[in-house]
Amino acid sequence: MPSKFDVIVIGSGIGGLVTATQLAAKGAQVLVLESYVIPGGSSGYFERNGYHFDVGASMIFGFGKQGTTNLLTRALDAVNVSLETIPDPIQIDYHLPNDLRVQVHRDYEKFLQELGDKFPQERQGIRNFYDECWQVFNCLNVMELLSLEELGYLTRVFFQHPLACLGLVKYLPKNVGDIARKYIKDPTLLKFIDIECYCWSVVPADITPMINAGMVFSDRHYGGINYPKGGVGKIAEKLVEGLKKHGGKIQYKARVDRILMEKGRAIGVELSNGEIYYGKRIVSNATRWDTFDKLLPDTPLPKKEQTWRDRYQESPSFLSLHLGVEKSVIPPDTACHHILLENWQHMQDPEGTIFVSIPTLLDPDLAPEGYHIIHSFTPDWIAPWKGLSTTEYEGKKETAAGRIIERLETIFPGLDAGLDYMEIGTPRTHQKFLNRHNGTYGPIPQRKLLGLLPMPFNRTSIPGLYCVGDSTFPGQGLNAVAFSGFACAHRIAVDLGF
Ligand SMILES: Cc1cc2nc3c(=O)[nH]c(=O)nc-3n(C[C@H](O)[C@H](O)[C@H](O)COP(=O)(O)OP(=O)(O)OC[C@H]3O[C@@H](n4cnc5c(N)ncnc54)[C@H](O)[C@@H]3O)c2cc1C
Repeated sequence: MPSKFDVIVIGSGIGGLVTATQLAAKGAQVLVLESYVIPGGSSGYFERNGYHFDVGASMIFGFGKQGTTNLLTRALDAVNVSLETIPDPIQIDYHLPNDLRVQVHRDYEKFLQELGDKFPQERQGIRNFYDECWQVFNCLNVMELLSLEELGYLTRVFFQHPLACLGLVKYLPKNVGDIARKYIKDPTLLKFIDIECYCWSVVPADITPMINAGMVFSDRHYGGINYPKGGVGKIAEKLVEGLKKHGGKIQYKARVDRILMEKGRAIGVELSNGEIYYGKRIVSNATRWDTFDKLLPDTPLPKKEQTWRDRYQESPSFLSLHLGVEKSVIPPDTACHHILLENWQHMQDPEGTIFVSIPTLLDPDLAPEGYHIIHSFTPDWIAPWKGLSTTEYEGKKETAAGRIIERLETIFPGLDAGLDYMEIGTPRTHQKFLNRHNGTYGPIPQRKLLGLLPMPFNRTSIPGLYCVGDSTFPGQGLNAVAFSGFACAHRIAVDLGF
């Protein structure tokens, strides 16, 4: 193993792997260092008793076949690998207060019809709002998505697509709530728009950037939601295959303890086993909190990072239930993804909104014959899970799981009786296995900001050090961190002359 590389990537989340594969495909010598035993981070998997569980993500955008926003398809293509995916006909089946039930169909008109039937007086407003989201998407979906901090690219893309660029500049500082209220007056419908945002941004519409909403609310009807055959973990595995094909290297069980500095510049990394590697550029796929607080213990927090922390805070982590259940619990026409909320006041509370994913409805091979997987998770903070004895911790997990299962019984009667397997993950589990500060899902605005404008790109205040993943523009989600990976690789390729 050489000790000098063009680029060292700390972490093999999708953000890190897209950066690494893009650079390897351009001819750079790349080393990825991953502390866990497999790649993927929040999009990894684990196996128990014949069940193949996704650890986190399962509603996957970015696998479309056309346009430019299908970044997962493009990332795999770039290193000559591919993945079979299974189209999901319904993005989400919402079970909301006062028996409001809405399914978001892949077919746009069918979705508008269904939502309009629930709010007939708002039919036109609904169309106007979602159509405006398409305007954002259509601007994004004509241009190659690369680094917005590279002037050559910006100039090129502006001359190629001047109207689309101006459209994006218009929406960059905007949030969804302001646009929704232009068209919609019904308070319950505005609450629905809140949860439409919350279920991926974990904040309500007022502080959810319009650029992200344009992507999510349109791409689900354009490229659609597509589940990777064999589980979400296949995405990272395929990217690693592509990385190796192009001469890149990856090491597992390789925890970076610190980033090495020389004369104020990042020049390498030291692993927990004492090994040292040098790179012309260092990329951190860890969260910004982990990067600046843990990996740079002797470097004062740069002023720009402090400003960022004044604007963004960490979102809660999750309480996750990975369940194996008898097939009879899930009727055959059930949708794969569900959101359950009984009281609008509790949308953002710990154990308020419950997320459900049943990937075996799309890929039955993930569970033993005759069984389904239910992955259910709900936001939760780490603090109440700390400082407990093992018995207290296990007891608290069981009690919390009982509460979630009882609520899920309203959608899936017989769930408790049909349970075959249960593994409970807490914010502590997310912190430990996903290597994320307090197990956080990622940064969220502290207050209303100018849309996505204050979100940092990939370069940091420390020369030679870049960040990639959900602590960078444009935020959380696999397709979003893939965007960040494309941008990071592009910026570094220009910096190193590849
Ligand atoms: C429960 C849950 C459900 C979700 N559902 C969805 C969904 O349905 N759709 C969707 O698109 N997104 C979803 N997401 C979000 C999505 O999974 C994340 O936004 C995305 O995977 C983050 O990718 P990343 O590249 O930023 O980094 P991560 O996935 O966090 O990966 C970072 C990697 O870096 C490694 N690492 C960190 N520090 C070090 C170190 N010091 N040394 C070595 N390695 C290190 C970690 O081990 C990890 O492998 C979900 C997330 C969770 C937790």
